[in-house]
Amino acid sequence: MRIDLHTHSDVSDGTAPPASVVRDAAAAGLDVVALTDHDTTQGWAEAEQAAREVGIDLVRGLEISCTHQGRGLHLLAYLPDPTHPGLRDLLGRIVEGRSGRVPAMLAQLREAGVAIEQADLDREGSRTAATGRPHVADALVRLGVVASRDEAFRDWLDAGRPGFVDRWAASVTEMVQVVGEAGGVTVVAHPWGRGGRSALPEEEIAVLAAAGLAGIEVDHQDHTEADRARLREVAADLDLVVTGSSDHHGTGKVDHDLGCHTTDPEEYERLLARASAASAASGRDTPEVVQPR
Ligand code: AMP
Ligand code: FE
Ligand code: FE
Ligand code: ZN
Repeated sequence: MRIDLHTHSDVSDGTAPPASVVRDAAAAGLDVVALTDHDTTQGWAEAEQAAREVGIDLVRGLEISCTHQGRGLHLLAYLPDPTHPGLRDLLGRIVEGRSGRVPAMLAQLREAGVAIEQADLDREGSRTAATGRPHVADALVRLGVVASRDEAFRDWLDAGRPGFVDRWAASVTEMVQVVGEAGGVTVVAHPWGRGGRSALPEEEIAVLAAAGLAGIEVDHQDHTEADRARLREVAADLDLVVTGSSDHHGTGKVDHDLGCHTTDPEEYERLLARASAASAASGRDTPEVVQPR
């Protein structure tokens, strides 16, 4: 069983439609794929149809932009009821915050000598539920200002760079609880990724576990071997599920091919068991794993 629990389509900042992501996952030899677009469930229906066509298991998920103690943190959520009012309201606020700050970003870039029009982004992000920095990054690449999305973030869009504008995000502890109430489970995404260990100190992982967190994404391209080993120990201490995944973004991110990291089948079963328990406790109508075979 090969299981990849973190991928993006062009309804957020991946480059391929949800159906292509699912078909590509099957072609890459995966047995299970989760679609986890940023802050939206908009790709679920299309992904489900493709999964039934090609015969791959599909976990419906999303990656939610959160904050914890002033730092950004991504939270993977699997199998929540997307009609839960609290979840829907928070996602709406996140998406508004994400796209709402784009005019200010473009104004700052213009000030710094780079002219990008809103229309350029509308084309880039035509399918996306929320235009954000990745779409501005792609426009910078297209204009020839930088060579890649990574370079665009480093030189223009990361905190402290000329195009950076902060935005609203949900409190991660609140989001862990709300996803639980919606009958889903949460896994903290690449906790020691770009920000290193200080992005989420170990003792804070215990705080999230106490709030109801189900797992830690350990095997991820942005984690060093030493960080992975330590995160595995932290997960064992806190009885958290360990996941591994590609964080595939199509051509939007290099070295994140589908299945480049995978989740152990036993850990996957533990995650599903926790999802079933959350679903039962919530009394809500939650999505099942799509299992066409
Ligand atoms: P936003 O939500 O608009 O602030 O954009 C953040 C998103 O941009 C993240 O979720 C990542 O997918 C992507 N991102 C952040 N940093 C980088 C980077 N250095 N290179 C490529 N993509 C990045
Ligand atoms: Fe992304
Ligand atoms: Fe992420
Ligand atoms: Zn991601």
